[in-house]
Amino acid sequence: MSRYRLLPTPAQEAVLRGHCAHARYVWNLAVEQHSHWRPGRAGAPGFLQTVQQQALRDFARAMAAFFDPRNPAGRPSWRKAGRDEGFRIVGRRGRQWDVRRLSRKTGEVWVPKAGWVRFRWSRTVPPGVRSYRVSMDRAGRWHVAFAAIPDPIPAPGNGEAVGIDRGVVVGAALSTGELLHVPGLTAPERNRLRRLERKLARAKRGSNRRGRVRLAIARLRARETDRRKDWAEKTSTGLARRFDIIKVEGLQIRNMTRSARGTRQNPGRNVRAKAGLNRQILRSGWGLLARRLEEKAIGRIEKISPAFTSQRCSACGHVDPKSRESQAVFRCTACGYACHADVNAARNIAAGHAVTARGGDGVTRPMNREPHLLASLTGRE
Ligand SMILES: [Zn+2]
Repeated sequence: MSRYRLLPTPAQEAVLRGHCAHARYVWNLAVEQHSHWRPGRAGAPGFLQTVQQQALRDFARAMAAFFDPRNPAGRPSWRKAGRDEGFRIVGRRGRQWDVRRLSRKTGEVWVPKAGWVRFRWSRTVPPGVRSYRVSMDRAGRWHVAFAAIPDPIPAPGNGEAVGIDRGVVVGAALSTGELLHVPGLTAPERNRLRRLERKLARAKRGSNRRGRVRLAIARLRARETDRRKDWAEKTSTGLARRFDIIKVEGLQIRNMTRSARGTRQNPGRNVRAKAGLNRQILRSGWGLLARRLEEKAIGRIEKISPAFTSQRCSACGHVDPKSRESQAVFRCTACGYACHADVNAARNIAAGHAVTARGGDGVTRPMNREPHLLASLTGRE
């Protein structure tokens, strides 16, 4: 998805808000009636408009994904006004919609009922676009995202394999010894965020001040997300170009997010600590990186069983939890081999054998927006 800042006129903004409201209404209506819904019954009544029809089709797809045992998608959930605003237009470019460039920095996308809406041409609109999504974030900014399948990157043909360990200390570690750091906010930005959060806690509900503070917080968070996305794009492209085979741990994110809550019979232990860790993992950009790798290095990703990758010595094979000296240091209790703990795990992953693959990054989250179009285009839905 390449995302561009959309710049609607006030009149167009009113139309876009209307589309969002319609899409949300239809979606929520479908959520409410989901008990009657069965796979294959996607029927959209004839009087519905493009936006509503698409929302309903998307809901049907989200439900189908939810029922699909191979797919870890969450149950479609409610959309809230002001928070999950967006709609999708699908169809052939030049027929149902179109995009054109006005000047070096400005482009226009044709939106039903709103006409040509300007956007910042911050990079080339990729070829092969089949749909776009218009969304409004919590800071009130509009974006348009064009969905295209990223071009698969050909294997370099050097026979090299790499193991990647999703780190807790760093973003990811490679079996080559490289450590990948996910960019976040800078120290001054983090301080500012903390100050704003304290301010928010003190601000009176419904006051103008509170609104301004919330907006500033939303902007900082959006900046962090943008950086992480950018990192995932660049890193996945780099890895797909350098290595023939890319090995990652299978199912790890899902297992960890699952373990936090536990069940009623077996309540999870350390729920709060684990929930914190889970948040960190989901926020680390790892899920996005894994997804992009699968799209760019098609058929070259191997999922390795995560058992003992952090406790096994990559030099002699000895397995001992005590070898994991600390979060960052691995020191083998048998042979004395010492190494960055995440790099040691990445080396075990590089040496591992593939387990049965599961779709996507294995992350389960509640779905309150259109399922990723890429999934349907690549047939992994
Ligand atoms: Zn050893």
